Amino acid sequence: AKARGRQGLCMFRQEMDSALTDNLQIEQMLRDALQENRFFLAFQPQYHISDHSLRGFETLVRMRDAKGNQVSPGRFIPVAEASALMIQLDQWIMGNALTCMQPVVAQHPDIILSVNVSARNLLHGDFSTYVQNLLRSTGFPARNLELEVTESLFISSLEHASKILNRLRDIGIRIALDDFGTGYASLSYLNRLPIDLLKIDKSFIDQINSDTNGNAFVKAIITMGHVLGCEVISEGVESDSQLDVLKGYACDLLQGFLWGKPLSFEEAKQLAQKEPIP
Ligand code: C2E
Ligand code: CA
Ligand code: CA
Ligand code: CA
Repeated sequence: AKARGRQGLCMFRQEMDSALTDNLQIEQMLRDALQENRFFLAFQPQYHISDHSLRGFETLVRMRDAKGNQVSPGRFIPVAEASALMIQLDQWIMGNALTCMQPVVAQHPDIILSVNVSARNLLHGDFSTYVQNLLRSTGFPARNLELEVTESLFISSLEHASKILNRLRDIGIRIALDDFGTGYASLSYLNRLPIDLLKIDKSFIDQINSDTNGNAFVKAIITMGHVLGCEVISEGVESDSQLDVLKGYACDLLQGFLWGKPLSFEEAKQLAQKEPIP
């Protein structure tokens, strides 16, 4: 038993070591990719459920490795987030997203561009001044910008995080709470957070129709979001039957393969141009 225990420990060490080298490799890959400009952006459309009109886009980052193969953000974002590289990457993403989308929102003033912001970046330095400067230099209007934050932002300091979010909202930026339901959010503080949009995580959308509890849970989130004065968006919607359920619960917005996969900038621009100009 002792020998087996040892062996178990050995295997565990090996797995840990290889996870560590993997992460180190990815970190190096990220550094190279930043240097060599191997990141690019995709834009996934978001729609109003009521009339299927375009609401805007979520900015999603993509990376190619040195050989030109795409690496999934699910793989490299967590590694970036564990290091200071995420701040650099976030700034690259936001700067590029606002620069290329500025002419699009200038033509379509109703379109909202949503950008993910890691907790580390938001809490680092003077984030709201950074964003204000970026809005000024790109000419991107604050009211067309939405920042997506996750519940992890509130773990260390609810007060501090709320203060920063309020400052951003004062400028006219919207705040979305991403991956809602998967993390730390609790009813006890949700009503104190300056949030405009709740994003129901795909894992809950996946449970729609598979069991009645799944439906009840999604319904409860939507109702609660509305009580709190938020809009609610469902992410990862893939089927008409999920859409029917969400419609029945008066969910406001939809993002998912059913109505649109992540697009290249050119494709996103063309999609926006099909919308009537208000
Ligand atoms: P997320 O923010 O929850 O983004 C949604 C993810 O779900 C995206 O994957 C999107 O392509 C995918 N998705 C959307 N609709 C569907 C659907 O109907 N079916 C399926 N199967 N998937 C759908 P992606 O682009 O691979 O991103 C994964 C995660 O990586 C994101 O999850 C986010 O946490 C992170 N990420 C991506 N881009 C950025 C970024 O620019 N900044 C930061 N900080 N994180 C990012
Ligand atoms: Ca997101
Ligand atoms: Ca999300
Ligand atoms: Ca998610």
